[in-house]
Amino acid sequence: MGREKSIAAFEEAQKYIPGGVNSPVRALRSVGETPLFIKKAEGVTLTDIDDNQYTDFCLSWGVFIAGHANPKVQQAVINAIPNGTSYGIPTLLETQLAKRVSELIPSMEQVRFVNSGTEATMSAIRLARGYTKRDYIIKFDGCYHGHADHLLVSAGSGVATCGISSSSGVPQDFAKYTLVAPFNDKEALREIFSRHKDEIAAIIVEPVPCNMGVVPQQNDFLKFLREITTENQSLLIFDEVITGFRLTLGGAQKFYGIEPDLTTVGKIVGGGFPAAAFGGRRDIMQLLAPLGPVYQAGTLSGNPIAMTAGLATLDILSQPNVYEELNAKAERFINKLAEILRPKGVVINHVGNMFTPFFTGGIVPHDFNDVKKSDTAAFARFFRYMLSHGVYISPSQFEGNFVSIQHSDAKLAEILEIAKGFEG
Ligand SMILES: *Cc1c(COP(=O)(O)O)cnc(C)c1O
Repeated sequence: MGREKSIAAFEEAQKYIPGGVNSPVRALRSVGETPLFIKKAEGVTLTDIDDNQYTDFCLSWGVFIAGHANPKVQQAVINAIPNGTSYGIPTLLETQLAKRVSELIPSMEQVRFVNSGTEATMSAIRLARGYTKRDYIIKFDGCYHGHADHLLVSAGSGVATCGISSSSGVPQDFAKYTLVAPFNDKEALREIFSRHKDEIAAIIVEPVPCNMGVVPQQNDFLKFLREITTENQSLLIFDEVITGFRLTLGGAQKFYGIEPDLTTVGKIVGGGFPAAAFGGRRDIMQLLAPLGPVYQAGTLSGNPIAMTAGLATLDILSQPNVYEELNAKAERFINKLAEILRPKGVVINHVGNMFTPFFTGGIVPHDFNDVKKSDTAAFARFFRYMLSHGVYISPSQFEGNFVSIQHSDAKLAEILEIAKGFEG
């Protein structure tokens, strides 16, 4: 598999774009590689500019549950483009998609569209602070909620502490209102709430953490979050930017039967275009401008092409039995892959069709501290082995992989055969 053209393209890109990429993980540094430059994607197959083909399990970080270049989404977008691609004036499409999202995720009584997951979480937190008139928020170590200043905070391991930013350029004063707790640790949360009585605006959580690799809840942790926020009159925000329309049509909240006050969705909801949304209880959402004092806006928000692609994607996902079949197919595959990789000390965490192979020497990780003990060099060898055999998994130990409705049983069987050849 020659990579000459991608290597030359990367040289050129680095002259004009910092690190040659517009989002850091794409640089493939942590797996000791340089980026592929992609010219085409169809179904679950990526084609790079050297004409190599790869079966994709990253799927633009979970966006393409219905496969790349899905013909139905593509046709809807092609039909929409001649009508113009942005007006800065309302369209029927925005109401249609908002209604659809609200019907599928009933806790999102009202919905506002934005352009990225980062904007959705940032706005949801501003709204939670405006509603509660409190400043502190709690996030979990290892959960990612986009790159807004106050969310680029993790406290390292151990006891929850005041936030220290994990990025240069974030004033300590911005980070100090972000309190960080280990995921799955009820005691740490009780301690934070007692130390900051009546000061916590909200807890924000990925209901299935995926941005440290997939780490499912234990012992009804999400139910506990619902209870402790209600008791303290704080809001519960589910960041479903990945899990929304991924685990079920109703997101992780339907999957686990827990209703948050506010929810963010992204990735799948834009059908491959830049769109995301936040929404929740009507009484909270009514505080947004122009009705209320919490300001939030966007030039391209509710963009008609993105709304069209989102609606077409949700149409595909609303067919009967889509998730039953997808999750069953994914679980058969993931269980077999786990068996194949177990002798190499790999544990696969999964929920539904999302999974991460952890190189932890057989230990099941339950929080970021556990995850960080992974042998990332071994993961990098696995990534490079799979890549050299035409399989593109998410290029970091700390990310999720996704099965799409377009991964056929035959294709998945081929991938298992390839995985058998990995020597460690
Ligand atoms: C991807 C992601 C975000 C950020 O979304 P962008 O569109 O990249 O800004 C936020 N939260 C979660 C859980 C995500 O997976």
